Amino acid sequence: MPIKIKRAAAGRGIIDQVKEISGIDINGCLQCRKCTNGCPVSGFTTPSPSEIIKRLQLGAGEELLDSEIIWICASCATCFSRCPMEINMAEVMDALRVLAEAKNAARPRGNMPLMNRLLLGTIRTFGRTYDLGALALYKAGTASYGKDLDKLPSILKKGKIALLPPRGADRKMVKRIFNNLEETRKKSK
Ligand code: SF4
Ligand code: SF4
Repeated sequence: MPIKIKRAAAGRGIIDQVKEISGIDINGCLQCRKCTNGCPVSGFTTPSPSEIIKRLQLGAGEELLDSEIIWICASCATCFSRCPMEINMAEVMDALRVLAEAKNAARPRGNMPLMNRLLLGTIRTFGRTYDLGALALYKAGTASYGKDLDKLPSILKKGKIALLPPRGADRKMVKRIFNNLEETRKKSK
């Protein structure tokens, strides 16, 4: 499939911003597609992880932030573990999510940005994800209280998600990390 890229006014697109946020240099990518072939979600949407990298290298701009895979990416890091160049694509996807939010470009299917924000909120509060809390807030935020509720008992029974918030994490330290990140972002604007 031909790749259409709108060259950004600055000429280099968003590749430098992605590197600044993620700390990942994607210039060494060989386009071997091992990341794409191992990615559990690349078969359900486009562009693939390797194509995202190619587009960034070619100077893609903010149009890339509309890509659904940014929000479908499960952060499983399979791509990273398979990459011969040790490119951490999961971090790149995170950076693209941050940029999409910052530039108000998030237009994925459903309410994935909301879920993303809520899960990050639980990490900020409890030091780890609290899935049930995030789900409850998501349902309130999307007025979808009854949807899939019948699955909850079996999910809880199988121990897939915990009833109570997580304990044991260094909450103060995690909050400090979030605060520092916010400060850094404010300064870089
Ligand atoms: S596995 Fe690594 S080198 Fe290969 S296409 Fe993906 S990012 Fe590029
Ligand atoms: S981290 Fe995201 S892009 Fe990488 S393999 Fe997992 S789902 Fe795919």
